[in-house]
Amino acid sequence: MLINGLQTDQAEAMGLMAPSLFIRLFLLGIVPAFMIGNIRIKRLSWQQATLQKSVTLLLSIVLIAVCLMPFGDQYASFFRQHKIVRSYVNPITPVYSVIKLGTDYIAERRRPDTLIPHGTDAKRSITFNTSNTSNSAVKPKLMVFVVGETVRADHIGLNGYARNTTPLLSKQSNIYSFKDASSCGTSTAYSVPCMFSYANRRTYNPDSASYNENVLDTLHKQGVNVVWRDNNSSAKGVADRVTFEDYKTAVLNPDCDIECRDIGMLDGFYKLVKSGSSQKETPKDTLILLHQMGNHGPAYFKRYPKDFAEYQPVCMTNELSKCDNQSVINGYDNAIRYTDYFLNSVIDTLKPYEQDYEVVMVYISDHGESLGENNIYLHGLPYAIAPNAQKHVPVIIWSPTGNGIDSSTIANSSLANMIDQPVSHDFITPTLLQFFGITTDETKAAPTFFKVTN
Ligand SMILES: [Zn+2]
Repeated sequence: MLINGLQTDQAEAMGLMAPSLFIRLFLLGIVPAFMIGNIRIKRLSWQQATLQKSVTLLLSIVLIAVCLMPFGDQYASFFRQHKIVRSYVNPITPVYSVIKLGTDYIAERRRPDTLIPHGTDAKRSITFNTSNTSNSAVKPKLMVFVVGETVRADHIGLNGYARNTTPLLSKQSNIYSFKDASSCGTSTAYSVPCMFSYANRRTYNPDSASYNENVLDTLHKQGVNVVWRDNNSSAKGVADRVTFEDYKTAVLNPDCDIECRDIGMLDGFYKLVKSGSSQKETPKDTLILLHQMGNHGPAYFKRYPKDFAEYQPVCMTNELSKCDNQSVINGYDNAIRYTDYFLNSVIDTLKPYEQDYEVVMVYISDHGESLGENNIYLHGLPYAIAPNAQKHVPVIIWSPTGNGIDSSTIANSSLANMIDQPVSHDFITPTLLQFFGITTDETKAAPTFFKVTN
């Protein structure tokens, strides 16, 4: 309403200034303020006052915690579904809103007009160009990078989870599943820009990410064909300057029932990848990013078609408190089976391109999820206090032999050995640059998920 008032014309703004506004303001604002102002307050010394206020504050926090704890599951899903309630119940909201309007304005004024460049010294050490297409030793690169949603590492069958939630991937060869990977943040809006930024988890600032160039910008400038297909809320500003395709609606996505499915993002894949032999077009280094709906909660039961409802019974409401814990987990695990199917389809889609390209698939989730441990649900807790369930994410790489990625068991840095090392979202930007043969001082000596040998 404040923004409405400021942005509209004078006539309409005056429409908001009805006489009743001033009567209310007088009766409910000025009169009580005058009465309170006249109350004589017994002055305490600052030591006494500090002590008294600290005790009151502490007791209030304890009281709030005691009241909230038994209903953690209800509150988590309720406030997530009805975010606006947090403002309605809080009498401070109008004051907070005025301050926020002011600080937003200042932040907007301070924001640089131009992007802060990164990777300005980027060079391609491996150059693939049209003149050496006859040289079969040099193939262009093709990577599909799947940005996962809300999947925690310990519910992945490949990682030793008691349930085989990844039956299809288990049957694929050349699969590497990292056992100890941590995310940058605990929410999509925080993690996704961080994953593709030049910052690492410690230096990353979510507020400035939108005006800093990211690794997709560098790849694009270096001639890599970059396409972002999105079946999530958005690319969170990461794909603003590369090709972006929205698969959230049936306009592009052919697989929509109660919602549009991730598998629809593979529709017309061949159009993104020019196959040298079949289409008489020059193959080009290509990076395709697929941003999944994945395991987005709390309505896990909506995240997969019926065929994937392996584990029963399933919690069929987004009010997690109405369900027993096991049925919440069942829905969550069923959704992972759908991601297993999706990733398996990505791999099968990529296989025919192996002769013309050096192909690889990388899957990394943006953050994990709490599923009722200590009565904590969903995600988004501050990193320092978030449980591992929200921070440990799956990293799964499909890397067929002969694609230039070292998968031998000899080198310490090979894929086969790296899967047991601690890795993180910080590895993504250097890995992408390295795979496409691009070097820059900004990522010099930064660790990567694998080494490229040619
Ligand atoms: Zn997310």
